Amino acid sequence: MSKIGRASRISEIIKDKSFYIKKKYGQNFLVDQNILEKIVSSAEITENTLVVEIGPGFGSLTEHLLDRAKHVLAYEIDEELIEFLSETFESDPLTIIHDDVLNRDIDKDIEQLDTAFDQIILVANLPYYITTPVIMKVLEQTTSVERLIVMMQHEVAMRMTSDPKTKDYNSLSIAIQYRAKAEYLFKVPRTVFIPKPNVDSAIISLTMKENRALPEDREEFFFRLIKASFKQRRKTLYNNLKGFDDIDKETIKDVIESLGLKPTVRAEALDIEDFIALTNTLIDNQ
Ligand code: SAM
Repeated sequence: MSKIGRASRISEIIKDKSFYIKKKYGQNFLVDQNILEKIVSSAEITENTLVVEIGPGFGSLTEHLLDRAKHVLAYEIDEELIEFLSETFESDPLTIIHDDVLNRDIDKDIEQLDTAFDQIILVANLPYYITTPVIMKVLEQTTSVERLIVMMQHEVAMRMTSDPKTKDYNSLSIAIQYRAKAEYLFKVPRTVFIPKPNVDSAIISLTMKENRALPEDREEFFFRLIKASFKQRRKTLYNNLKGFDDIDKETIKDVIESLGLKPTVRAEALDIEDFIALTNTLIDNQ
């Protein structure tokens, strides 16, 4: 079987097709079969699994995913790659959506496949320039994805899987804690990509929690609240929340104090329970 990911193959494809590598799309193609196998093995894909892939590129990871999954739904922004992917995987159970994943409703796209699956997993070598928004989007907007196995810059992976309350603690750390269990899986050296990036990468897994602390109809408020709370790190929580959701500022101040927090507190001093309590109290006082 032709393995697209072999370094020589990718170089050939790039040359044959006079493919122009687009830095703006974060294109670093993975060309190591062992790493590709290791990623796919850690995803624990069964024959009734739907895999959602973001940025298939030339399909080196996609090829391995298709070996195991029932279906792959892939989002690719680069038009030049769409034709290549459609031809290469013509007879495979692959649906390619040519769009910016950030503009999509992933749950809806899954629904449109109109097929039953035992589990839905997202597997991706993420374009680094959108790692945070993609993960935030999945945590905030999807209910069908059960697990994410994603590659990102090593440093970002360390941050996403480390304990909260470090200097990098932010709205994403809280969103991850709220919805998922995060685990650092393994490091991927920069040498296994074409072109070679300036930093190493790592794979992490995010397993969605079955039970969440808030009722579904309060979650949209919660995600907006955490983002607003960290909007300007130097500002106090109160100042960041002034004007939030048209709630009058006296109420914001009273609610912060009613939770036993100082009026001058900053968002980084709050833990997830504080944000859940803040959500509930603000909604109840509206
Ligand atoms: N999966 C391939 C691999 O491992 O070799 C390619 C990974 S490369 C790091 C990222 C891929 O995401 C590229 O193919 C790029 O064109 C695509 N991409 C970049 N931004 C995107 C976006 N906003 N939506 C969908 N795909 C995007």
